[in-house]
Amino acid sequence: MPTQEMLLEIGERIDSLITLDVPSRGAIKNLYPYARKKAGKPLALAAAQALCESVKEKGVVFIATGWPDRPHINPEIAETDGPPGAAALARALHRGLKAVPIIFIEENLVEKMAIVLEAVGLRVLSPEEAIAAASSHAPIHAASVLGFPTDREEAKERAKELVEKYSPRAVVAIEKGGMNDKGYIHTSRGAETTKDMAKADYLFLEAIEKGITTIGIGDGGNEIGMGFIKKELREILPYGKKCLCGCGGGIVPDTVTDVLVTAVISNWGAYGVVACLAAILERIDLLHSSQLEQRVLWRSSDARFIDGITGFVEPGADGIPARINMAYLDLMAETVIQALRYAGKKGLLNKGARYLKIPVE
Ligand SMILES: [Zn+2]
Repeated sequence: MPTQEMLLEIGERIDSLITLDVPSRGAIKNLYPYARKKAGKPLALAAAQALCESVKEKGVVFIATGWPDRPHINPEIAETDGPPGAAALARALHRGLKAVPIIFIEENLVEKMAIVLEAVGLRVLSPEEAIAAASSHAPIHAASVLGFPTDREEAKERAKELVEKYSPRAVVAIEKGGMNDKGYIHTSRGAETTKDMAKADYLFLEAIEKGITTIGIGDGGNEIGMGFIKKELREILPYGKKCLCGCGGGIVPDTVTDVLVTAVISNWGAYGVVACLAAILERIDLLHSSQLEQRVLWRSSDARFIDGITGFVEPGADGIPARINMAYLDLMAETVIQALRYAGKKGLLNKGARYLKIPVE
């Protein structure tokens, strides 16, 4: 493993990339400084290190994602920020730590998510099959996608069952709406959008009770994970204290995860965590490459996810077109590759490190 000092340097560079406000949204300046101050180290690195410490071979990791984006028109309209990040993280956790990822999304988005997940090379199977695949003699690299209830009581019950049944080593949210202290989920623009959202908070509450590692990745202040800096966000976000629905709770979610990653686009936050995993494990083949991003974004639009900003069915995310997401991932990959090369030359890496191996995809 690279030295802690070196990892901190790489982590700074990755954080500067995930907080680069290419889309001009302005939210990141309200989120990152507070999250960073509280974490005391680069955020993507903090998440990657927490995953390395907690995830064991053949261990299950839960990843919650999915944002039904125009539910007043049709609850099956959902956005491309989230699912690609979840797929990229699932791939890195499987390849790097031999984990079995189970992705949770709204019931009516399960098929769509499966298409995106298979774009990173993981065959979507039932959880039992995916767990069995981890011990298969003939290689089969698998993950699972399960629907999670929008009904509160059902969600509570399911969360209890699932955590007990699969004993996940970590639970991660990527662009997943979180409930405020009144139980309501909001858009970053202050509107209430509780009804059609899976109540994924209950997976986290169950995990927290059992001492399981929890990580939230978000970009607006209204996602699971933001409870980490709730006090600060309530003061500084436009709808932090006062939302538009009158519930009186504001948009900031209540659940407090162990780690929070704030990024300009939630997918980019997940890619940053993947980049840090690649650096920690000295495995540049774990990086989410630009070619892989292209495939994932195309498959996302083929699966009928929309760009949440433009409202078109197109292979971009949060208003940023595919070619820019791809260029961005080249930049992120090169940052890790150059850092590991430099460390290798200085003799700072493990013997037999795979830092020079060209990304496989
Ligand atoms: Zn409200």
